[in-house]
Amino acid sequence: MGHGEARAVASGGMAAQTRVLRFRGPVLPDGESRDLYVVDGTVTYEPHDGAELAAEGWIVPGLVDAHCHIGLDPEGGVSDEESERQAIADRDAGALLLRDCGSPVDTSWIHDREDLPRLIRAGRHLARTRRYIRNYAHEIEPDQLSSYVAQEAERGDGWVKLVGDWIEREAGDLTPSWPREEVQAAIRVAHEHGARVTAHVFGRAALPDLIEGGIDCIEHGTGLTTDLIDTMVANGVALVPTVVQLDNFPGYAEAAADKFPAYAESILDLYARRRQTIMAAYDAGVAIYAGTDAGGVLPHGGIAGEVLELADYGFSPTDALGAASWHARAWLGLDGTLAEGSPADFVVVGRDPLKDLSALREPTRIVLRGKVVA
Ligand SMILES: [Zn+2]
Repeated sequence: MGHGEARAVASGGMAAQTRVLRFRGPVLPDGESRDLYVVDGTVTYEPHDGAELAAEGWIVPGLVDAHCHIGLDPEGGVSDEESERQAIADRDAGALLLRDCGSPVDTSWIHDREDLPRLIRAGRHLARTRRYIRNYAHEIEPDQLSSYVAQEAERGDGWVKLVGDWIEREAGDLTPSWPREEVQAAIRVAHEHGARVTAHVFGRAALPDLIEGGIDCIEHGTGLTTDLIDTMVANGVALVPTVVQLDNFPGYAEAAADKFPAYAESILDLYARRRQTIMAAYDAGVAIYAGTDAGGVLPHGGIAGEVLELADYGFSPTDALGAASWHARAWLGLDGTLAEGSPADFVVVGRDPLKDLSALREPTRIVLRGKVVA
């Protein structure tokens, strides 16, 4: 017990610790209008007389950024101060649960910070030697993959991140990072250590070994074809397409065009087909979640933009928002909806986000672990 708590109890101040907040409005996803009370960090619908009305509006279960990077910038790892600033930018945009998809620095201290978003880390990226952005990954060879997967599974929060394909200089094009046997063995090792596995994949060639090998999620997925999509549905493999990030593909192609024209052509082809590829996965029933890919080249705090872009691709408003809220929370092991007794993580917006998703850009209140944080 800390000094503050001791004083509160000694002075009979239990009321200060059990201050009840009331929120009023349609609670998503079902949209039933309710009085939602926050008591000791959790949601209750039991009326509490005299509870302070903290906000009125549409109440959205805490947003999720299912693919971002805390502790990373274009050059590599950053300071704890910068990591904190990144986490606060996400939080203030309503992203109260972050799945970190790879970071070279240890950000486990964020778990101890009640004011920062809940964080699920995938450890450090695992990439083939000289085949990823410099300073980001453990750069290793296939015979090292399983032991590194075991190590990152123990260091992370239940996820491991592979770089599944990248440009191979000799080939001058995207090629799979790992041979089939080694990568499928590594996926089994991760599962034995209780971790799920995801992989960055832009092209098609790396996908069959991963999807048939029991991987849990694909990041980007621009190389998906209908046969692979069907296997994803059958095997329950999720997809985080990072659709805002895909708009950077023409820039990648342009930067590489002189030295690697075949790669540039591949990237432009994936870019040209990106909407039909992602929508084919959506229409087939692949579980798709919203991720901004913030932390490399993109800024933090962009979750609303990702939701809007998913809707622009053709997702229904409910599916676009669910991909960044209740569906993603449940996928990552939290309470998806704001049911009685669930953690009080939610965002209040001033107009119906299912009628106008841009409402997410202007949250009027953000509640994390039962406290108003913005
Ligand atoms: Zn990423």
